[in-house]
Amino acid sequence: MPTPILVLNCGSSSIKYQVIDVEDESRLASGLVQKIGLPDTSLEHTVDGTTNRMDQMVADHKQALELVVRAFEMYGPALSDVVAVGHRAVHGGQSFRAPVRIDDDVIEKLSELSPLAPLHNPPAIAGIEAAMSTLPDVPHVAVFDTAFFATLPAEAYTYAIDAEIAKKYAVRKYGFHGTSHKYVSERVAELLERPYDEVDQIVCHLGNGASISAIRGGVAVDTSMGLTPLQGLVMGTRSGDVDPGLHAYLSREAGMSVGEIDRLLNSRSGIAGLTGGSSDFRDLGTRVEAGDSAAKLAYDVYIHRLVSYIGSYLAILGGIDAITFTAGVGENDDAVRESVCDRLAPLGFLLDDEANRIRSKEPRRISQPDSPVQILVVPTNEELAMARETLKVISA
Ligand code: ADP
Repeated sequence: MPTPILVLNCGSSSIKYQVIDVEDESRLASGLVQKIGLPDTSLEHTVDGTTNRMDQMVADHKQALELVVRAFEMYGPALSDVVAVGHRAVHGGQSFRAPVRIDDDVIEKLSELSPLAPLHNPPAIAGIEAAMSTLPDVPHVAVFDTAFFATLPAEAYTYAIDAEIAKKYAVRKYGFHGTSHKYVSERVAELLERPYDEVDQIVCHLGNGASISAIRGGVAVDTSMGLTPLQGLVMGTRSGDVDPGLHAYLSREAGMSVGEIDRLLNSRSGIAGLTGGSSDFRDLGTRVEAGDSAAKLAYDVYIHRLVSYIGSYLAILGGIDAITFTAGVGENDDAVRESVCDRLAPLGFLLDDEANRIRSKEPRRISQPDSPVQILVVPTNEELAMARETLKVISA
């Protein structure tokens, strides 16, 4: 029997959605509302390969969802068939270690967590409230980006700062992109035809945001993002790791406020900051090929950081069965995969150069047959993962 689930991902000015039939895992519709609150709001709604566009100013998430409902009424499929709604909730803090059915208590706890994710949780809550009033008769489920990393051991999630302050303000590593790391690592076990709890692996989620995780027998034991999604790898516009002393130094020497430093590290750093240009990896590749020295340095810094993390996680896990590349850069950029694996060849990462260069949307192995570490590319699918998690909660 078809079991359609609506998956919603609400950002500050956008709503992404999909309807997925979890019975056969097919996508029945997908869409995007952009520029909520601006004069030129637009909605794109795709069904059966046809994209329909609606331009209409909407003031907030409630009105945006009403527009989404109209798109479903005009172009299908029928929203009345939807059995549940799954919401992306970025920060679950220490309260949520697994997806949860949403009630007033959950919404209140999510609001309490907003200081930990000021950019992400408030729009998610606005989306949840709007969706619950628009679709009141079906269960709504929150799926957390942090949940997969609830298993991190204390030595991995604890920052070495004053313990009282850390406790009072819930300062610890939480990790993000968990839905993707979980989905991809489970697919890896399937592809290797081995039980999930017997595979030791590293997953590199390299998109605009980037993170890496160490997973021992299906249990996450470390990850690169921290209290916020700013820690770790070099990203499109985010710095990843810097010396924590940088804040005090810039405050003293450049007279920058905390807010200015936060914006610098989140929006004017990473690939965009280092090149003074685009955060897009395709543009970076073009500039590197053209001999641009800033682009070359940005690429080298990116690879150096990534290789350092892989080395660290290899040590933590005491060896691995597989490493997997996923998300926009990980799935598509063979040069990044080659640069990483070439440096790690002495540690057993033997890349099959030809397999690495084949472009495909399918999960695939790109290591040589006798490589001690299996190297894979697995396209992530966070929406499908969220739909599956939602189904689990409503079936429990
Ligand atoms: P997010 O979901 O974090 O916004 P994505 O996973 O979509 O990001 O990844 C976006 C990144 O993937 C961009 O830097 C983009 O340039 C890169 N990317 C997409 N396609 C390619 C490609 N063919 N080659 C290299 N990089 C690509």
